[in-house]
Amino acid sequence: MNNYVLYRKWRPKSFSDLVGQTAIRKTLVNAISQNRIAHAYLFSGPRGTGKTSTARILAKAINCKTENIEDRLICNTCENCTDINSSNSLDLIEIDAASNRGIDEIRSIRDKSNYSPSKSLYKVYVLDEAHMLTKDASNALLKTLEEPPPHVIFILATTEADKMEPTILSRCQRFDFKKIDNNDIFQRLEQIANDEKVNISESAIKRIAEISEGSLRDAESFLEQAILSNDEEYIDINQINTILGITDSKQIELLQESILTGNINQTIQLINNSVSNNTSIKQLHNSLIISLRETLITQASTSNDKERILHMAKCLKILVNLDFSKSLNHTSSLEIAAIEASMLKENEDYIPSKVIINEAPIKTLENTANQTPENSIEEIIETEKPNIVVPNENILKDMHSETDNQEKIETIAEQNTEVPNENIIKSDSWQSIIEKFAKIKGERFAIGALLRDCREASIDNEKLYLSFASNSNQERFIGELEHGRIKLDLIESISKTFQISTLKEIVYNDSEKKNNSNNNSVNLSVMKALNWGGQIIEEEVQNDE
Ligand SMILES: [Zn+2]
Repeated sequence: MNNYVLYRKWRPKSFSDLVGQTAIRKTLVNAISQNRIAHAYLFSGPRGTGKTSTARILAKAINCKTENIEDRLICNTCENCTDINSSNSLDLIEIDAASNRGIDEIRSIRDKSNYSPSKSLYKVYVLDEAHMLTKDASNALLKTLEEPPPHVIFILATTEADKMEPTILSRCQRFDFKKIDNNDIFQRLEQIANDEKVNISESAIKRIAEISEGSLRDAESFLEQAILSNDEEYIDINQINTILGITDSKQIELLQESILTGNINQTIQLINNSVSNNTSIKQLHNSLIISLRETLITQASTSNDKERILHMAKCLKILVNLDFSKSLNHTSSLEIAAIEASMLKENEDYIPSKVIINEAPIKTLENTANQTPENSIEEIIETEKPNIVVPNENILKDMHSETDNQEKIETIAEQNTEVPNENIIKSDSWQSIIEKFAKIKGERFAIGALLRDCREASIDNEKLYLSFASNSNQERFIGELEHGRIKLDLIESISKTFQISTLKEIVYNDSEKKNNSNNNSVNLSVMKALNWGGQIIEEEVQNDE
């Protein structure tokens, strides 16, 4: 079985096949039944929640040739339906806006959209990742949306609607897709397993549903992975844990208990055991959060022990705040977070380490630990991830040797606050790198297209510092570098172009933080200090003095 066979085979073909999204399904079915069809739709929501599947179903529903099929809108047998099902329709045009984000591409779409559909009533354009369009491209698209040809329908799909131009949003009928409920995912996986004659335990399916975090596409892909890598006749939860790199629930319970009771040695031991067993550190982190959250919710609803509940909430807060996207060493990052959580004692506030950056005159970095007790538990549970947390291995060693951690981090940050070299984004050399990688496609995206989203780049001390305008592009970029030779080729090209010794590392800045500031050097020095093991607790802009 090839990758994504299950996902393609089980792709919903009718509105009734769609998993979850009941409200969206009903609204669309009613509208189409009454022939109220909009010319532009916006489907926004997390990945794997059915946006592009719904777009294809919508395209079939408005173009299906079979009439009088009672309460169904789609026959799945006529020419138009089968063309779409086999991805051969000339009237359903699916475009990845991440790779086709410029004004020329949108103008070309606009010109072509003027031609009549080849076989259908409507020509349907699906623009996936629509938030990636440039401002000029968005403006060009807006003109088309303002006066669309009568036979054209645009469906814009996005995971980040807030990054789209408000003028575009106002032209679209908007549908917000929600993460799919675990039970719905469970039922779908059970149905697939039955039909595919896969012998798998209920608890194994439940575990897959849990770790998929509301993405049916991920769930189907995990199930497929489990089927492919299993030699036994029967798949149980232990095999799922091994295959997907998840620690079994007893280990998670033990780890949680050792954190809550402040047993640092055992905490580290358990994390290291999991790593030796090839457990994915992200899955371990995720499972720990799920488990701690469940315990906290149970305690909060059944116990009056407020100190214990608050203690759990604070531990959970530290773990939730761990952000692997800024981390150089995931194991160390989890170890440090777990140690910090273990050091919290009931009825006592742990004061996290802080960073002082000398060269950041307009900012102060203060810890907010003293405010924590005033936070309600709900606030703590709902706390957003902080912008940056980057511990490193040296710091961990220092913590093991019981030196004064706080003082150590300050010293390291202070010694190394020189600003990295200038922003090279505008240089011809950087543009030549973008051009060179413009046509090199990773698994899903062109590397050059992603690099174009960088707002700052600098090279210092054999490290490349990158700052993307959008977090999702940064994640995509990191993902693409994991495949094949792309990372090696990129490093080689940059080293050669800028005539430096071979780069050893790529360090990512936090894009949202960057947007809050106009001072590049401050961002870069903060970024660099973080790379040495600092931690930003909170940023504050001071008045000029
Ligand atoms: Zn049909």
